Amino acid sequence: MERVSISPVQAREMLTQLRADIRQQRQKLKNGVSLEALDAQMKTWETLIQQIQTDMLLEKSARLSMLYDISRSINASLDWRQTVQAVLDAFIQITTAERGMLLLLDANGDPQVEMTQSASYMLFSDADIKFSHSIVRQAIERKSPVLTTNAQLDPRFDGSESVIAYGLRATLCVPLIYKDEVLGAIYLDNRARSNVFTAEDMVSLSTFANNAAAALYNAQEHQKVDQALAERMRELTILQETIRDLNASLHFNRVMERSTAWAVAASGAEAGVIGLVAEEGIRWLTKANNVNPNNLLAMRCISTREPIVEGHYLVLPLLRDTRPIGVLYLVSEERPFKKSKLELVTRVADNIAIAIENARLYEALRQANLTKSEFVTLMAHELRTPMACILGYSDMLKTGMAGALTSQQEEFVDNIAQSINRIIAIVDDLLDISEIEAGRLRLSLRNVDFNSVLDEAMGRFRQDAEKKRLRYTRESWNGLPQAYADPDRLKQILTILLRNAIQYTPEEGAVTVRAWLSADEPDFIRCAVSDTGIGISPENQLRLFTKFFRVVDPSSEEQNGTGLGMTIAKNLVEMHGGRIWLESAPGKGSTFFFTIPIAMPGL
Ligand code: ADP
Repeated sequence: MERVSISPVQAREMLTQLRADIRQQRQKLKNGVSLEALDAQMKTWETLIQQIQTDMLLEKSARLSMLYDISRSINASLDWRQTVQAVLDAFIQITTAERGMLLLLDANGDPQVEMTQSASYMLFSDADIKFSHSIVRQAIERKSPVLTTNAQLDPRFDGSESVIAYGLRATLCVPLIYKDEVLGAIYLDNRARSNVFTAEDMVSLSTFANNAAAALYNAQEHQKVDQALAERMRELTILQETIRDLNASLHFNRVMERSTAWAVAASGAEAGVIGLVAEEGIRWLTKANNVNPNNLLAMRCISTREPIVEGHYLVLPLLRDTRPIGVLYLVSEERPFKKSKLELVTRVADNIAIAIENARLYEALRQANLTKSEFVTLMAHELRTPMACILGYSDMLKTGMAGALTSQQEEFVDNIAQSINRIIAIVDDLLDISEIEAGRLRLSLRNVDFNSVLDEAMGRFRQDAEKKRLRYTRESWNGLPQAYADPDRLKQILTILLRNAIQYTPEEGAVTVRAWLSADEPDFIRCAVSDTGIGISPENQLRLFTKFFRVVDPSSEEQNGTGLGMTIAKNLVEMHGGRIWLESAPGKGSTFFFTIPIAMPGL
């Protein structure tokens, strides 16, 4: 901005000088002076007066354009700090003050310093701020600027330490008023010269102050919205993370521990504890930090089902469908709880209640499952004994121990034995699946010759294969390393796959078994059981490994089965560390693959 050559103060000083000159000339005139000299003097004065006039006009228009520019720049930003800074800078620039501060009224109507601005050698001391406050209060109460052209002589500041110590001369305080409401004030002072701020400046300064107040108000509102948005985002993130974290586990203790941690985080508490409704009253569980909950407060919360916010305590009911299942007890010794936190904490509490209920249900389900599998195990053992007995007697009958059998009797005995064998197989499958589900099935791992186990398993079905005139072969792979497996369970996996392959392949088809080392997984023996049977559709392939699944189709349904074989095979393979998969197409046969780890040298 263009600087003008003469300031109003300078102009005033020049005028005073002019007056003194005139007085001097008048004296000279009395004493007889030449007219030429007087004319020359008059010319100098005229030029001087003209210059003063133009300079003052220029100064005025320059100030106006400066005010306009500053107003525009102040209104350009919605950022709170930037606006405060711009307003304060503007006042200092316009008034050429040495120091300035911007104060805002707090919720109690007390002015609080928001920002100060001064050269480093004139920092505001506490005493200065105290002194300025008395002026600020005056300006705020009057809702108009308070101006001191020379504080040293002003009786209002008589004896004020800071006025004397600082050598304060000029002070000015302009209230910031928006829509008739005082937002705060700008305080400015100067020590070098008195009369820096003049009464004439007040009108334009007040107008400017109103403009600045509007800008501050807008920035403040914007900041409030910004803060509210940021707070809302933070709340949503907490809630989202709480839900995700609580859903990640069904383990009761972990759910309780995480719930307490999240409730503390969401409420800004220092400590918290969850209490669950129990027969004896409230059972206090996991604590985050140290809390000694007040039972009476908790009981009141449970019976009213309403949150209690009492200063440092926040107690919320944990409700499931309006039924209280417990309380969330939060403590904040340092800062009392804000009511605004209640909504978020209530939502967190709702999710905690859901998570607790889910964990409880899961626990109940786990218990029920355990009981069920214990029952199945018991029943299976109970059934096995009489089955073995029936099988034993039918064997004895067949060997002729009780006299020779007619061919029809022999056929009947064969049927009895076959049915008993089927029941035993079903009972064995049920026993296995329930042991697997209860996590009780253990493998006895050792180094095993894979081909021998395979031969044994294939041997069991040789007769069945022959009956169906199947091509039943094993492709050998030279130098197959030993497997690291439980031989009985490995045989069981192969048995399941072979039985199905033979069962679901029409007469004169082929069942081929291959075991080899694949370059993809060199630490595993890969085995494939292929058949030329009925095949499995893609949809059924997806469901094949689920418990009790059997393909609904006449060619499958005419075969006996429980739908447990594939589930058992998958579990056994995975317990060994391998994997199982298949390739199949309806009418084109199936190939089941699985992998079993090879034995490590030295093991
Ligand atoms: P199941 O006792 O019924 O054989 P599984 O779990 O072993 O039970 O097999 C599930 C279903 O998968 C079978 O009922 C059958 O429909 C289908 N399945 C299994 N293996 C084959 C195969 N090799 N070819 C065609 N279908 C098969």
